[in-house]
Amino acid sequence: MIDCHVHTARCGHGEGEAADYVLAARGAGIEVITFTEHLPLPQALDPVREYSMPPCDLAGYLDEVRSLAAASAAGSPLVLAGVEADWLEHDMDHVRGLLAAHEFDLVLGSVHFVDGWAFDDPNLIEQWDTADVDATWRRYFEHVVVAARTGLFDAMAHPDLVKKFGYRPSFDTAELYDWVAEEFANAGVAIELSTAGLRKPAAEPYPGPDLLAACARAGVRATLGSDAHRPSEVAYAFDRARRELAAVGYERLVYFVGRETREYLL
Ligand code: ZN
Ligand code: FE
Ligand code: FE
Ligand code: ZN
Repeated sequence: MIDCHVHTARCGHGEGEAADYVLAARGAGIEVITFTEHLPLPQALDPVREYSMPPCDLAGYLDEVRSLAAASAAGSPLVLAGVEADWLEHDMDHVRGLLAAHEFDLVLGSVHFVDGWAFDDPNLIEQWDTADVDATWRRYFEHVVVAARTGLFDAMAHPDLVKKFGYRPSFDTAELYDWVAEEFANAGVAIELSTAGLRKPAAEPYPGPDLLAACARAGVRATLGSDAHRPSEVAYAFDRARRELAAVGYERLVYFVGRETREYLL
């Protein structure tokens, strides 16, 4: 079992030290854990540091994870240092600069903003009441596809995060999902099966079964992650995740070491 997406208290909305997550992983029988703290956002998008770690923390974060990796080297789990980076419509130079200046095992690509709105922030949930849900969904997936095409990301995190609070579109998503899956395949990115959606009003993993099936048909590789924001969430609901992956035909998953793919059996 491998968990490719966990956070810590450093991000401003999580709990626990990195060492606590390693202990939790060991307790859960996890063989590989990849820390993927939120890459520092530009100050204007995260003025009080509630979405991402402060820029001055990035080097310390990587040092901390690498020293945990060294301490765990003889045993289990294997500890890897990744990052969750936002695709930002107007600030990609910021993202590119930070990614180029550091070495990571895995770079997850995320879309948490649609036209400047942090649509998955529980504090901004009331904006969904006046939002055009169909348009927001289309816009979200356009962003995700553009993000995948940048080549900056190894895997697309929680690829249908737009459903988090349970607002669903009125249109049939089949064509949209086929397009998204084709784009992922062409871009060579993996998708993440994230169990975080099971802890939210969406009440299903990200992505749901239809998008997951489209990705499987298109030959898109998959990673598995809990998006844990507290140690007890490491490997959250992985049995359910494995059933859903197997149901659409996945037999192998991937994780990343030094940005290179490693396969393992589901
Ligand atoms: Zn987070
Ligand atoms: Fe995220
Ligand atoms: Fe995350
Ligand atoms: Zn996340």
